[in-house]
Amino acid sequence: MPAKKYALAIHGGAGTMLPEQITPEIERELRAALQRSLDAGRQVLENGGSSLDAVAAAVQVLEDDPLFNAGRGAVFTSAGTHEMDAAIMDGRTLMAGAVAAVKRVKNPILLARAMMEKSPHVLLAGAGAEEFARELGHEIVDEKYFFTEQRWQALERVRATARLSDQDRHGTVGAVALDQAGNLAAATSTGGNTNKRPGRIGDTPVIGAGTYADNATCAVSATGDGEFFIRAVAAHDLAALLEYRGMPLAQAAQTVIDKIGRLGGTGGLIAIDRAGNIALPFNTTGMYRAFLDGAGASFVGIYR
Ligand code: ASP
Repeated sequence: MPAKKYALAIHGGAGTMLPEQITPEIERELRAALQRSLDAGRQVLENGGSSLDAVAAAVQVLEDDPLFNAGRGAVFTSAGTHEMDAAIMDGRTLMAGAVAAVKRVKNPILLARAMMEKSPHVLLAGAGAEEFARELGHEIVDEKYFFTEQRWQALERVRATARLSDQDRHGTVGAVALDQAGNLAAATSTGGNTNKRPGRIGDTPVIGAGTYADNATCAVSATGDGEFFIRAVAAHDLAALLEYRGMPLAQAAQTVIDKIGRLGGTGGLIAIDRAGNIALPFNTTGMYRAFLDGAGASFVGIYR
């Protein structure tokens, strides 16, 4: 059989993840969810669908899963509310769409895609983004939909200790894909970080920081301390290392994560180049991640 001409990688956030902190049952659920997300993207790519459809499908599965910090399982702000960010980018056209600080949109990634395809703007935030969602008939849910006991406890822990422990800092989701037509795409969705100040926007919806795709180089989705990824313009920096330095993907991806580390930030990213090479570096103890290898076999991982 000829090698498959598509590739896909997903992440469900990076952070402190140690086997002793995750029960076998939760670990099974996490792995199954990552597999479902990968399968959703794979199905699109296998049938000749676009990388854009694949990354949106993969991310939507994780947004609907309460285990991840995006959509349903989004973390709480310091005000006990939810504010979600998401972005998607098409490597073929360099078109991009993003939304920030949306409170009641069930699937922020679908709204980000609508921003790209149906609006002249790249990024809409808050009430304006929700108004746009309503106009287009996107599913709006009651804020209660985003309540999960696990995230509420995380907020209480952070409030009690006045400190965001690494354990409470993961779960952002993302996907990068190469389709059979040779097009790259990236998508990322997050609730941000626990106890963030209302109005805070992270790297996820900032094109070039947490999300980037360009057919000439690669597609990237990042996770971790958003402020550092914004300051390092991380996702675009990775693409620039390929474009201007001719660096191989794995080396460029590691270079970017090393820089985040030098600045004092933690996190990881997933990246895919136009040959279908995949890199998944992180400087934390774990990153929820999965990818399809060139032969179509899947790998799901959590720990280093
Ligand atoms: N990067 C996300 C943010 O800062 C959070 C994360 O990936 O854990 O909003």
